[in-house]
Amino acid sequence: MNERFIKKLMSTTKCSVCGEHYEINNIKVLRHEDDMWFLNVFCPSCRSQALVAAVVKKDKSLETTTDLTKAESAKFTQAFTISADDILDLHNFLQDFDGDFAKLFSQK
Ligand SMILES: [Zn+2]
Repeated sequence: MNERFIKKLMSTTKCSVCGEHYEINNIKVLRHEDDMWFLNVFCPSCRSQALVAAVVKKDKSLETTTDLTKAESAKFTQAFTISADDILDLHNFLQDFDGDFAKLFSQK
């Protein structure tokens, strides 16, 4: 699992405000701990910004150097513990998130 991959994954999701896809250049990794990634995404279309948390299993690697075909996307979704929809759900959830990570991590 690397930064390029998580950005690629995030770029498959759409902005919850205007529905445009995020671009890799507008995705910034804030923090990476084990399987947990915190990303800051910016949508150039509507100029909204969001904090996104993602948990990705690192023992399953998949090279994503090209744009995904439909078949690859299906494989991709099965190979990881999260899908683009999960990220979008988190994205929506985190729009109300107050930034207290300690509190978030203590919730089981
Ligand atoms: Zn947008």
